[in-house]
Amino acid sequence: MLCPRCNYDLTGLPEIHTCPECGLNYDPDTVAIELRGVRHPVAVLFWAVIWIALLVFILQRGAPRMRDWFFLTVAGAGFLVDLYRSFIRSGLRNRLVINHEGLHFKLSCGDDRIVRWEEIGLADRTWVTGTLRIRGPDGSSVFVCPFAEFNRNKKMVLRSIAEINRLKKIYTPTK
Ligand SMILES: [Zn+2]
Repeated sequence: MLCPRCNYDLTGLPEIHTCPECGLNYDPDTVAIELRGVRHPVAVLFWAVIWIALLVFILQRGAPRMRDWFFLTVAGAGFLVDLYRSFIRSGLRNRLVINHEGLHFKLSCGDDRIVRWEEIGLADRTWVTGTLRIRGPDGSSVFVCPFAEFNRNKKMVLRSIAEINRLKKIYTPTK
């Protein structure tokens, strides 16, 4: 067995134990999900090309108009936003570890939170904001992990929800 977080070889260690390499509390069903963002290298390049093309066009023609500044600003903003989302935001190390104790959220807002299995009914997603929501056994909201903490990666939210609900059945079988 390999460590679900760092791939350290756990052969010879107990089935439920702590990874000597990264300190993860693992068991045979533990899942570690790195909440990485989506990279948009093509979008970044696209905006850069548009911006340079606009600039060359304007300089060649001379006498820039109000409209030219507007387009340059829009293309520049598009470039910066995609650059930020692709290379800075997506590099943040947010993580969700699911083990026998429950859900361990390690988030960039500094909110390290453990949600224990006995608090959890099911996981779902709020349909307006795409936030991951943990509902208690009575259906009330126990914990929400904002979409931004998933680096706005919808696939990560859906995968996390699927894993939480799958492992809920394994770790807390209903009598
Ligand atoms: Zn490890």
